[in-house]
Amino acid sequence: MTRIDDLPVRDELRGKSPYGAPQLDVPVRLNTNENPYPLPEPLVERIAERVREAARGLNRYPDRDAVELRTRLAAYLTRTGGHEVTRAQVWAANGSNEIIQQLLQTFGGPGRTAIGFEPSYSMHALIARGTGTGWISGPREDDYTIDVEAAATAIAENAPDVVFITTPNNPTGNAVPREAVVALYDAAQAAKPSMVVVDEAYVEFSHGESLLPLLEGRPHLVVSRTMSKAFGAAGLRLGYLAAAPAVVDAVQLVRLPYHLSAVTQATALAALEHTDTLLGYVEQLKAERDRLVTGLRDLGFEVTESDANFVQFGRFADAHDAWRRILDQGVLVRDNGVPGMLRVTAGTPAENDAFLDAVRALKKEQG
Ligand code: PMP
Repeated sequence: MTRIDDLPVRDELRGKSPYGAPQLDVPVRLNTNENPYPLPEPLVERIAERVREAARGLNRYPDRDAVELRTRLAAYLTRTGGHEVTRAQVWAANGSNEIIQQLLQTFGGPGRTAIGFEPSYSMHALIARGTGTGWISGPREDDYTIDVEAAATAIAENAPDVVFITTPNNPTGNAVPREAVVALYDAAQAAKPSMVVVDEAYVEFSHGESLLPLLEGRPHLVVSRTMSKAFGAAGLRLGYLAAAPAVVDAVQLVRLPYHLSAVTQATALAALEHTDTLLGYVEQLKAERDRLVTGLRDLGFEVTESDANFVQFGRFADAHDAWRRILDQGVLVRDNGVPGMLRVTAGTPAENDAFLDAVRALKKEQG
């Protein structure tokens, strides 16, 4: 049988594993930071209507520049982000993973490097590898915050072409203060100048504000967003960015023509019509996230401050063993490989109760 390594694959892909959060069929799945609430029925109806209309035109290619969708996304950002964003500043793609890929194809690539402060979202490094961009693992403190001086030094020493700042961070959950982002942007401009990508996939769950207002006067800043989390639409695959219009022009040099299907555009537009209902679920999830933090702390776990829809907790002598014991009780959480720590996504109240019961039992077993 031919194996991957028998094929003439690129050297940097040899012996590597694909992104692989387990998709297991267990009663309570709290492992991939999805929103636990199915889309409300009136929205499902509206999607069906919009998609039916789009279906009548599927003989034609979709709107290549997704003008209506970008207009609506800009309006959403303007309304919720504390900063006016125009359509010319917004670009959309199939999930924010594709946004990140397009950014690295545009500003990274062979002979160039990107830095992230780890542990952080593992796909930044994987997409860097896939686009031939060198990856630099920047430092994070033991409490998972970013030490601005250490991070700025890493930027100055490496002069990367792209800097990733994930806030709130995944898998740790904590947000990066606005002053820290400003300081790292300045360090990146002094070093290269490089593009700074602020990954705000979870920002709607934050106690704080979006960093969109920082776009003013910072032409190398990009804010990346997604409809996978707050909009409860991970299956839709819709991510977007806000940046200077020139950045939007630049990513169009690498995007595949007609990358965003007419069905995707229609579905996303329907979801945006129901923004207020969906943001209502976000409020419930924030309350549940806070309940998980308190519940875990009451049980004596170490819990990282969370501004996201998930919580990092520990510390376990053997995190993988703890992960398995929680799974044995029908609850799937995530072992991200952060030593001693696991991550749980905020689910419905019943799911969170099942999780808290499972970790209470685990605590008893471990004494
Ligand atoms: N950024 C971060 C920090 C994430 O955690 C995720 C998903 N887990 C993404 C981006 C990608 O999400 P999507 O492609 O679904 O928009």
